[in-house]
Amino acid sequence: MSDLPINLDDPSLWRSDSYVDGSWTPADSGLRFKVEDPATGRIIAEVADLGVGETRRAISAAAGAFENWRATSAQDRANCLRRWTDEILRNREDLARILSAEVGRSMQEARNEIDYGASFTQWFAEEARRVYGDTIPSPLPDRRFIVLKEPIGVVAAITPWNAPHSMVARKCSPALAAGCPVVLKPAEQTPLSALALAVLAERAGFPKGVINIVTCGDPVPIARTLTDSEIVRLVTFTGSSEVGRNLARECAPTLKRLSLELGGNAPFILFEDGDVEAAVEGAMQAKFRVIGQNCVGANRFYIHESLKDRFVSGFKARMALLRTGPPTDENAIVGPVIDDAAVAKLTRLVSDATGKGARVLLGGGVHPAGKCFFAPTLITEVDNSMAIVHEEIFGPVATIQSFANEDDVVRAANTTPYGLAAYFYTKDLRRAWRVAERLEAGMVGINVGMMSSAVAPFGGVKQSGYGREGSKYGIEEFLELKYVCMGGL
Ligand code: NAP
Repeated sequence: MSDLPINLDDPSLWRSDSYVDGSWTPADSGLRFKVEDPATGRIIAEVADLGVGETRRAISAAAGAFENWRATSAQDRANCLRRWTDEILRNREDLARILSAEVGRSMQEARNEIDYGASFTQWFAEEARRVYGDTIPSPLPDRRFIVLKEPIGVVAAITPWNAPHSMVARKCSPALAAGCPVVLKPAEQTPLSALALAVLAERAGFPKGVINIVTCGDPVPIARTLTDSEIVRLVTFTGSSEVGRNLARECAPTLKRLSLELGGNAPFILFEDGDVEAAVEGAMQAKFRVIGQNCVGANRFYIHESLKDRFVSGFKARMALLRTGPPTDENAIVGPVIDDAAVAKLTRLVSDATGKGARVLLGGGVHPAGKCFFAPTLITEVDNSMAIVHEEIFGPVATIQSFANEDDVVRAANTTPYGLAAYFYTKDLRRAWRVAERLEAGMVGINVGMMSSAVAPFGGVKQSGYGREGSKYGIEEFLELKYVCMGGL
């Protein structure tokens, strides 16, 4: 650990082995996969490339830990989660450095994500003590009807690279609070944040086997082992809709419960009675947080025709101030996208749109800062014939369309198989309720460009998945109801 590629106050947070049954574990095969810093192209780690055998051991370890963990008092589980939160916040700067190195994000954005992650461990530390059952008035005088809530069992969690810290926290903490052990497979590009969280979980006192991290370069056999297992009772997945659909198919034979947080194609609507300056501010947040690689990021801007010129000129002026560069440039806000494939996708979407008549007002291609940097891009004259309207952009590219009336824009906003987030700006209270109810999305922001919070339910409808994370509802995913009927009274 002496020659780390980055400086850490606590070098022991930098791990390249997996964490199984309370032990730091290399692959049985000895294989490792490379983790690259997308800002520099430098290989920053070679991480254990686990296979099916080690994944089965992780599942067995979790199963072995289940009986004790579910029997641990809610107060003790809450205490573990609280200590984990304390460790995360105490090591905030190092965790942000690790995250910044593996996704190339600015330190400020990285710190924001650590705080967001800690808000989940803290929230579920509190919720662990609030898993209430029920009594039901019995129709029979000699019987009592009781409903218990019990942990579902071993949980498999699969997380994406775009939020390598907070997605781990958002999935593991409600499972652990409910009494479920976890086997987590982080994204191949970003295993280091998950492994650092395991170090802190160990320090927080979670018993061995309760948290297991399985790192791998090829997700398919590992995910298959998790989905085929009779022991795993729930798969919680955040990632693309395509992989989510595959997992649903694979989970069908064992009838596992699934929680799927999938892709989005969020509309952002500015009505004729909306506040243009506030909408520009909201648009910056909804589009450029985490370099546009955000499932709730705004994909399609619909601006009322009467406000289009004002909005576009304000948005363009704000975008022009965004400095693009690596995390080492402290003033840079826009870092690299995750890899070459992401650059290729953005290039394809922009070129398809311009080929069909769209106009590029700003940016439009790779930025001189490096091959994975895409310049903040603003495109107008966009229409439905273009792929950029239908595909999740997942990068710093904003597309503008204009509209004339509410019915048309709500219809356009809903014309997508996705239904994760939607945003709109209006000062008309009746319209606010009407449109919020008509938009097909799991989350609706009115006059805001950012709405995620640990205390609010996060999740989508349609092909954005099902299940909710965070909030008082998030823990329910990990609980089963048991009806107990007591007779002979
Ligand atoms: P992805 O390709 O679906 O990968 C997500 C996770 O699934 C990674 O751990 C990945 O492992 C694994 N995976 C990939 N192919 C798999 C397969 N065939 N079987 C089983 N597992 C597989 O998605 P991504 O590109 O990393 O993430 C971006 C997507 O996530 C976007 O669509 C975004 O909208 C969505 N997302 C949704 C939310 C939400 O809460 N709704 C939040 C964040 C992101 P490898 O890394 O090893 O490939």
